[in-house]
Amino acid sequence: MTRLNDNFLKLRAGYLFPEIARRVEAFSVAHPQLAPRIVRAGIGDVTEPLPAVAISALHRAVDDLGRRETFHGYGPPTGLLSVRQAIAEGDFRSRGIAVDDDEIFLSDGSKPDCSAVLEILGCGNTVAVTDPVYPVYVDTNVMAGNTGAARAEGGYEGIVAIPTSAATAFAAEPPEQRVDVVYLCSPNNPTGTVLSRAALERWVEWARRHESIILFDAAYEAFIRDGSLPRSIFEIAGARECAMEFRSFSKNGGFTGLRCGYTVLPKSLQARAADGSRHALHALWTRRWSTCSNGVSYPVQRAAESLYTAPGRAQTRQLIDFYLGNAALLLAACEGLGMRAFGGVNAPYVWVECPAGVSSWQAFDALLTQGQLVVTPGAGFGRCGEGYFRISAFNSRANAEEAGRRLAVLTAATAATR
Ligand SMILES: *Cc1c(COP(=O)(O)O)cnc(C)c1O
Repeated sequence: MTRLNDNFLKLRAGYLFPEIARRVEAFSVAHPQLAPRIVRAGIGDVTEPLPAVAISALHRAVDDLGRRETFHGYGPPTGLLSVRQAIAEGDFRSRGIAVDDDEIFLSDGSKPDCSAVLEILGCGNTVAVTDPVYPVYVDTNVMAGNTGAARAEGGYEGIVAIPTSAATAFAAEPPEQRVDVVYLCSPNNPTGTVLSRAALERWVEWARRHESIILFDAAYEAFIRDGSLPRSIFEIAGARECAMEFRSFSKNGGFTGLRCGYTVLPKSLQARAADGSRHALHALWTRRWSTCSNGVSYPVQRAAESLYTAPGRAQTRQLIDFYLGNAALLLAACEGLGMRAFGGVNAPYVWVECPAGVSSWQAFDALLTQGQLVVTPGAGFGRCGEGYFRISAFNSRANAEEAGRRLAVLTAATAATR
């Protein structure tokens, strides 16, 4: 019989979001009269329509494809040069960060990039993630064979979890031990906290000393409004020798359904072959894209490019301001209820501490059954997420306001049981 990839069988069943969906569905079936009241502030998907510039760019690009003179077939596998140039200039060089056009690789999003990068890093690296963590970093490594079996207490054999806690505002510090690859996400999903420049400098220094690679996920960089916080790891001196960055148009441009993102891979980033020789990963990544992909669809690339025009920038900023407004409102609601919360500024997530003695799934169930509010239990993001839940600011204003009000059921419920 044909062999399958056994690594997939190591994946823990009951992945977070299916379990949330299952509980919400069970509640709706049991209480059909309350089902229409449910407010979802769980999954981090955008709710607002695309910026007008992107819609116009899409229409124009579709018309281009309908005329022989402007038709586009296969494009360069790593993206149209004009788009890569707009990105390198708009996101980096205009901000004083040296990035070449050909160090930008367009893709259909960061999630696929997180998975694809393991193709060029191969199997056998020791991988570290922060805890709590965006589950994609872990599961893609399980699939790639970089871990052992799932552990009963959470996580997988062979993957290093770097614990974070309220004591350090959920900012991860470099571990004592050497690892080959570390994933950092800032602004963080799920905690909404942002690594300071000093913290990121410590990470870069650590990675260079150990000859490790930082995979830096900056999907939420556009939410940073505090000018002192780094939006790219390449703002840190020395990062070009130890880091690769993941960017996405999903959260800043609302492209979750359109699908576009990019990676920045500096030509100076190297890794070692089995025979000990050093090689630039840039050549491998280029080859990977030429062989395995024919790139991002033409209309989608044009839509991404439109975000870099002056009106595109203004519209994107407005969109993010809107979600930041929701985040501020949710954070204020938590504080008003005397609940300890992190994030909510420079990020679209609020990370809330459960009342004393309440687990994250208990808080989830209480909010669902008593308040018809869906949040994401922190335990689903790792052991250090236990005792917390995440509220997403990706919602309509009315829903964000309502979510803020309904959080009160949690404090009322715990007051009643005391
Ligand atoms: C939403 C998100 C992304 C973006 O993923 P896409 O595949 O580009 O939609 C990347 N990283 C994190 C942590 C996210 O939450």
